[in-house]
Amino acid sequence: AIRPLIAGNWKMNGLRASAAEFEAMLAGAAKVAAKADLLVCPPATLIAAFADKARGSKNLKVGAQDCHQKASGANTGDISAEMLADAGASAIIVGHSERRADHGESDFLVRAKAEAAWRAGLTAIVCIGETQHQRDAGQTLDICRGQLNLSLPPAATSGNLVVAYEPVWAIGTGLTPTVGDVEQVHRFIREFLIAKFNGEGARMRLLYGGSVKPSNAAELMAVANVNGALIGGASLKAADFLAIAGSY
Ligand code: 13P
Repeated sequence: AIRPLIAGNWKMNGLRASAAEFEAMLAGAAKVAAKADLLVCPPATLIAAFADKARGSKNLKVGAQDCHQKASGANTGDISAEMLADAGASAIIVGHSERRADHGESDFLVRAKAEAAWRAGLTAIVCIGETQHQRDAGQTLDICRGQLNLSLPPAATSGNLVVAYEPVWAIGTGLTPTVGDVEQVHRFIREFLIAKFNGEGARMRLLYGGSVKPSNAAELMAVANVNGALIGGASLKAADFLAIAGSY
């Protein structure tokens, strides 16, 4: 069986005072340790402090939300995967739809960022997903296929890559696809990964993201080929985050 990953994406939320919420997550993590791994991705300003607190925790790790594709250089304001590793991150989300839309990130850039994460020894969590317009046009699987084709580097393994399916229209809206829709897309992604990466593709973790909350987590996490969740809003509160993790 694939060990589930429950990942929280704090987005642009969190101050140093949020350490108390993170400590509550750490304290509760032991209870879900038997069933799932936990990852919290705070803003970059908090990674080092949170990673220091999480040192020694077996199943709660700290991740990042983005990285630059280069290791260092004249790139004002950017942060490299090597810097994130140095701060204590163990994984980096790349290609989130908010990066793709708000910062014009292409599939090619997302792929370079995934390779940057690996260069620094970190796991890449690559996000894909269709917009409402694309879903309405019946293009969901085509869009996902195109993003998978171009965003996933050829050296992907079940150890270095996690794929997150996040329908853009489900992010922060309270809307979720039906269980049947999630099942269809995740089966499609699994078949793609097996065709491309063989046995490794069969073992890669596939997360669902988009309006996951304690009240719908059990039903979404029970869907075939859903090996965890990528959670935005509900990952900011320890009680909600742990309740979702506990739905396994
Ligand atoms: P919400 O859980 O707030 O819908 O956000 C999902 C998301 O974008 C996680 O990366």
